[in-house]
Amino acid sequence: MEKIELLEESKRCLKCKNHPCQKSCPIGTRIPEIIDMFQKGEELEAGKILFENNPMSLVCSLICPFEKQCMGSCVRGIKGESVNFPAIENYLMEKYLKETEFQNVSNNKKVAVVGGGPGGLSGAFYLSKKGYDVTVYDDHERMGGMLRYGIPSFRLSKDKVDLLERKAFESGIKFKENITFSEESLKNLKTEKNYHGVLVSTGAWLPKELNIDGVERENVYYGIDYLKDNVDLGSGKKVVVIGAGNVAMDVARTAKRQGNDVLIAYRKKLEFAPATKVEINEAIEDGVKFLTEVTPIRITDKGIILEDNNTKNQFLYECDNVIISVSQKSQFNVENLDGYFYGGDLVTGPETVVKASLTGKESAKLLDDYLARKE
Ligand code: SF4
Repeated sequence: MEKIELLEESKRCLKCKNHPCQKSCPIGTRIPEIIDMFQKGEELEAGKILFENNPMSLVCSLICPFEKQCMGSCVRGIKGESVNFPAIENYLMEKYLKETEFQNVSNNKKVAVVGGGPGGLSGAFYLSKKGYDVTVYDDHERMGGMLRYGIPSFRLSKDKVDLLERKAFESGIKFKENITFSEESLKNLKTEKNYHGVLVSTGAWLPKELNIDGVERENVYYGIDYLKDNVDLGSGKKVVVIGAGNVAMDVARTAKRQGNDVLIAYRKKLEFAPATKVEINEAIEDGVKFLTEVTPIRITDKGIILEDNNTKNQFLYECDNVIISVSQKSQFNVENLDGYFYGGDLVTGPETVVKASLTGKESAKLLDDYLARKE
């Protein structure tokens, strides 16, 4: 949307006193206030408030489940269209990040952030603003975690992640790539490298397994690995995706874009799917098919045996590939170690970017409070 259209859109906001939009935002974005500032031309100030409250604001303005959050609660949506706040937020964030130079301040304390995804980066930006010398460790080559390696580019263009990465470097945040920790080496990081504190936000990258016969076959993948490793199935294949969460939708749409015939098999009715309606509709628009109320029984050389949950009849659905995308889990446990704080999907299980940003920021605050008490 052009700025002139955004200003028109903003005029539809009623500046509701009890701001239901803001209450339904997991990170409490001050929506009516931001809209007011935008109308008054205080764009960079509004961008600053957005970023300091939610360092992932740019990404959230593009991929949050708005229908369940701000737009789903907007009073304007009762009789018509909700105010498109995400479009205004996106404009303000692009402008703020591109036009503001971030400062590298120092309080002479150094902290480590393990995990460069949305939770870790949110915490890193918060700590850097407080003056900490922040080093982010990640087992990937670049910053971004799920934003870069889990969410397909057709949903989140990688130049947005590049922009956040640039701002992180500009703030003085350092990045150590391709570093994999074990439970043991993670525990030793603080003392070995003389960090004052460690924020752990390693996400939930391990696929939850499905215990049926045939999962070990070569033509079977786990959804998160399929996305992370950029697996190319080739085109013209018949692909079954098991699961109906957000990752399953991303997997199915990616496989469809590779030129395949894709079916999502889900054990319940579609209305109970964890993915948002918008994501399901987008998958349908892309041509992904759905088969609901079926349970996977086993994978054979011909395809997958499914059981109809109502009739209990089992049948073969012929396919070339099966991608299991039922959920993800964390690699590390949250431990009670002095000076260690935890955030992101590691704490909550697989969640939205905005919730990862919230818990990353909150755990960074706890780390900052802890270090202030130690002085
Ligand atoms: S609920 Fe909608 S109309 Fe009311 S303040 Fe929020 S965005 Fe504006």
